[in-house]
Amino acid sequence: MASRDPVADLRRIAFLLERANEATYRVRAFRSAAATVSKTPPDDLAARVEAGTLAKLPGIGDVTARCVAESLAGEEPVYLRRLTATEGVETPAAAAALRAALRGDCHVHSDWSDGGSPIEEMALAAADLGHEYFVLTDHSPRLTVARGLTADRLRRQLDHVAMLNEALPEGFRILTGIEVDILEDGGLDQEEELLARLDVVVGSVHSKLRDDASRMTRRMVTAIGNPHLDVLGHMTGRKVSAAGEGDAAHRRARTRPPSDFDLEKVLAACLDHGKAIEINSRPDRLDPPKRMLTVAVEAGCVFSIDTDAHAPGQLDWLDFGCERAALCGVPADRVVNTWTAERLLEWTGSHG
Ligand SMILES: [Zn+2]
Ligand SMILES: [Zn+2]
Repeated sequence: MASRDPVADLRRIAFLLERANEATYRVRAFRSAAATVSKTPPDDLAARVEAGTLAKLPGIGDVTARCVAESLAGEEPVYLRRLTATEGVETPAAAAALRAALRGDCHVHSDWSDGGSPIEEMALAAADLGHEYFVLTDHSPRLTVARGLTADRLRRQLDHVAMLNEALPEGFRILTGIEVDILEDGGLDQEEELLARLDVVVGSVHSKLRDDASRMTRRMVTAIGNPHLDVLGHMTGRKVSAAGEGDAAHRRARTRPPSDFDLEKVLAACLDHGKAIEINSRPDRLDPPKRMLTVAVEAGCVFSIDTDAHAPGQLDWLDFGCERAALCGVPADRVVNTWTAERLLEWTGSHG
């Protein structure tokens, strides 16, 4: 195959990233790699591809080295192909397709913790929306402000859910679960035996969100490695406010920047342990931010597009998550709640 022009390919990638309003540091990697490649003699480039030493050149990293090698081999770089694959895709159409593929929701609260409605009402609303299931994920004991469930209350909830499931419309079921607090040491805030019994465990950080990056990374990675955790909830903990809501001071008071952690390490832990990253659809969260979501898509992670609903009407917030997921190129088959309940349970069961 005739080789392609690696400089043109790298520049095209940078252009597409800029157009998508991606973080400057990501774009810069491709622009500086293009500059280095344009200054390197073709023979030297070819020899380096052969020897696997491209990334030793200044301004070239593993990702850009792979692009150059693919271009020289006459292939369209995978990175470029991924970017152009979503180019021209009508995002509304892609988002609608993703929404249509969703069979359920893995993050839902009831009035047992800080939700506003009984479980049954949430379930009926979800069935009306066409869901096949949702995972009931009320809070864990230490989140006292949200009336987190003690072990005893959770045990009672499990009995109650079993009873409700008997009476619910056919084709819909409530899966048991929890939104368990990820404690400061990375432990999970509920009894081991109970966590093991639950169908799906969402783990989230709700405290010390401004901790330094190394501690936050360790905390998250430890929790992801816990066999009981299946989904990492609202990973950055950020709060964004809907545009135009209230005055500036009011908006600032209600917003919170994303917490600081090593994204690569957290994503690597999710990949290693086969855990999903939540795409939280709440308009005040929209977590993770798009730049992180794109990196997670490229890393090969799986996702769960959830509403984190605290009231029946909020169960319809999935559209917001789907829109962002479509924009970032999340493939439907890597979204765990496009799977049937049986497949979802098989997957959570595989975590031990
Ligand atoms: Zn939460
Ligand atoms: Zn929640």
